[in-house]
Amino acid sequence: MDNPSMIQRSLQHVWHPCTQMKLHESLPLIPISRAEGVWLHDFEGRRYLDGISSWWVNLFGHGHPHIKAALVAQLDQLDHVMLAGFTHQPVVELSEKLAQLTGLGHAFYGSDGASATEIALKMSAHYWRNTGRPEKCRFVGLAGGYHGETVGALAVTDIALFREAYAPLVRLAATVPSPDARVAQPGESSVDVAKRAASALEAWLQQHHASTAALIVEPLVQCAAGMAMHDASYLRQVRALCDRHEVHLVVDEIATGFGRTGTMFAHQQAGIRPDFICLSKGLTGGTLPLSAVLTTDTVYQAFYDDDVARGFLHSHSYTGNPLACRAALATLELFEQNEVLAHNVTLAHTISQAFAPLSTHARIKNARQLGMIWAWDVATTLPHFSRRYHQHALAHGVLLRPIGNTIYAMPPYVMNEDTAGHLARGALAALEATLAEENAHG
Ligand SMILES: *Cc1c(COP(=O)(O)O)cnc(C)c1O
Repeated sequence: MDNPSMIQRSLQHVWHPCTQMKLHESLPLIPISRAEGVWLHDFEGRRYLDGISSWWVNLFGHGHPHIKAALVAQLDQLDHVMLAGFTHQPVVELSEKLAQLTGLGHAFYGSDGASATEIALKMSAHYWRNTGRPEKCRFVGLAGGYHGETVGALAVTDIALFREAYAPLVRLAATVPSPDARVAQPGESSVDVAKRAASALEAWLQQHHASTAALIVEPLVQCAAGMAMHDASYLRQVRALCDRHEVHLVVDEIATGFGRTGTMFAHQQAGIRPDFICLSKGLTGGTLPLSAVLTTDTVYQAFYDDDVARGFLHSHSYTGNPLACRAALATLELFEQNEVLAHNVTLAHTISQAFAPLSTHARIKNARQLGMIWAWDVATTLPHFSRRYHQHALAHGVLLRPIGNTIYAMPPYVMNEDTAGHLARGALAALEATLAEENAHG
């Protein structure tokens, strides 16, 4: 199928995500024919370096032979079986593995990040109901938090653009100030900001703990808020406050999990143990949709009863799909085989060096990096900066999609010096090209 006709057919028949479709009257859709490693290939012989791991999911590059082989073998064995009343090898092995990695267990599976959020929230509230405190059924999240966009997940997603139109549908959770280190006052450190945010949470919990089931946080990096990073001490304070006020701590590691922040899971940098962990995105190495929620024995035991209604009667048709679980196992095998976390320390250094001219650019504020995440705030009032930058980046052969005025990179872990150079040169050239449009817009 040639390119123009595929664009036309897509616009006619496909409703694309996170998109005002009318924009595609001026911004071309890009049909992708194939992908390999860090590269996305179009039909015109152009290629784009996937600098954001296709929305943060693709950890080891596209078409990784190890994941591919595991999927093919699994397809020969068992494609799918419902998980109620049945079980299978991939789901058992994956659940064991995730328990070993997180220190939590009783893996419950969904298909997307948003469904993991909803599972964790439902489990938390149901736990309190089962333990005789049904009034603990409200939630609290952080300013700028993002936990998905289904109606339940939107309740704890504090991004006005995603939520406003659905306000009447959403049972809004409370929000407390974010520990985003960028809000530091002169003389304040990120630790001070963390303390201040924790004090605000403390004040809030003192008032509302009796009606609060859980606090949900994105540990270390609020990615959708524009890679807002905070000090790990915040998570330790949060853990202590949740303990003191008998409120569950849900860590949403959907974006930060699987090595993205340098450790396997971000909350591990704070040395804390949450009550629930939500996982998705990188879980299958970017091949198939899968999400999981892990929790404590205490929570699990509160559901274990002769009474059916005290059980967690939640399901999705594809819960624990064998192919997705097998892809996840193969992804986790790669972490071990290739000592990925150690390798990424060196790789991150290489990538940071390549990005140095961008990080020190006169128009950049708050250049920051954690693990395999880089972000830069651009000082500009140019309307639609993000959209313009994205277009210029594509013209330079890189996929980067700023959030507001924040450029960020979350590249796959199979980058090298060459591809880092290509990504960094493209990112810088796209910045110059975008800023050059400022004159035209006064
Ligand atoms: C992407 C994301 C989600 C939602 O995941 P989907 O698969 O898009 O539903 C939830 N939480 C965080 C932190 C995310 O980054």
